[in-house]
Amino acid sequence: MNSKKHLGHTARKRFGQNFLHDQQVIQGIVAAIYPQSDQYLVEIGPGLGALTEPVAEQVDQLTVIELDRDLAERLRHHPFLHQKLTVIEQDAMQVDFRQLCEQAGQKVRVFGNLPYNISTPLMFHLFNYYDSIQDMHFMLQKEVVKRLCAGPNSKAYGRLTIMAQYFCQVMPVLEVPPSAFKPAPKVDSAVVRLIPHVTLPHPVKDLYWLNRVCSQAFNQRRKTLRNALATLFSSEQLTALGVDQNARAENLSIADYAHLANWLTDNPP
Ligand code: SAM
Repeated sequence: MNSKKHLGHTARKRFGQNFLHDQQVIQGIVAAIYPQSDQYLVEIGPGLGALTEPVAEQVDQLTVIELDRDLAERLRHHPFLHQKLTVIEQDAMQVDFRQLCEQAGQKVRVFGNLPYNISTPLMFHLFNYYDSIQDMHFMLQKEVVKRLCAGPNSKAYGRLTIMAQYFCQVMPVLEVPPSAFKPAPKVDSAVVRLIPHVTLPHPVKDLYWLNRVCSQAFNQRRKTLRNALATLFSSEQLTALGVDQNARAENLSIADYAHLANWLTDNPP
C-alpha cells in the first residue's frame, strides 16, 4: 500500500513530501555525508527527521530549513534533538547561505532529500553561494543526477550540467529505488555529491552571458550552433572563436561556453 500517512503525518504533495524510511539507504547517505562534530551542517527539508536524527547524533549543532509549518513545529519539539536543532521555517529558495556561513564562521555543508518539484531552481540558488559552501549531498530524481554528472556529446548534457560543473565537482553517490520512500515516488532517485571549486576552472566575466548562451544553445539543441546562436554571433565570429559551424549544443565543453560568454561580455549583440 502506498499510504500518504507516515509517523502520524499526511504527506503534502505541494511540498514534494516523500519520506525516507529505508534504514540501509539512510545509513548509506549519512556515511556519504560523513558529518564531523565541529562542522556546520544545514539540512534542507528535514521533514520527519529521517536524515536529521542520525546526522544530529554526530554533530554539536544542526540547522534545518523546513517550509511546512507543522513539520517545523514538530522539529522544534523533537523529544531529544530540540536543543541541538536550529529550525529555520522558511522557503530554502529565500535563504541567504552566505549569511549562514558568516554567522557560523565556517563554510556550510548542505544536505537534503530535496522536494523534487523545486530541486533544479534550488540548486541554481545554491550555486550563487558556492564560495560559502563546503559541499552538498542531495537526493534527487535519478534523471537529474544523470544530467548533473553528464559529459559532452550525450543526451543528458545540458544547461544544468554546465552550471553545476562550472561551480562544482559533481559525483554520483548511490541509487535509491521508490520503495525507500513513503509515499513511494513514481521515479527512481539517486544521491549526488557536489563540491564547489575553490578556484573556478573556467571563470566568466559575467554569469548573465554564460546563462544566456547556454539557454539559447540548449533550448534548440537539435539545431546547429550556427542557427541556434544566430542572434548572438555571426557564423564568421563563431568560426573565429573556434566553434565548428555544424556543432550542436552538446558538442561544446564548459571551457567553450565560458569562452563564448566572455566574448559576448566584451561584444554584446
Ligand atoms: N528529509 C525528509 C526525508 O528524507 O524523509 C523529507 C524529504 S521530502 C522529499 C522534502 C522536504 O522538504 C519536506 O519535508 C518538505 O516539507 C520540505 N520542503 C518542500 N519545499 C521546501 C522549501 N521550498 N524549502 C524548505 N523545505 C521545503
